[in-house]
Amino acid sequence: MSDPVNAPHFADHTISTQERGSFCTARCTCGWYGPARRARSLARDDAAGHLEAAEEG
Ligand SMILES: [Zn+2]
Repeated sequence: MSDPVNAPHFADHTISTQERGSFCTARCTCGWYGPARRARSLARDDAAGHLEAAEEG
């Protein structure tokens, strides 16, 4: 299952989360993906950090 995350839009960076069993991974349309997390909130934190880094360039 995938669950869109309402995050600020940056060029070519749209985050979604994907659950695998009891783990959740954040993914981005740019090809980035975060580590598997036990909690979706942690995956979203990973995604937020990615967006901040992407915005800084
Ligand atoms: Zn991205």
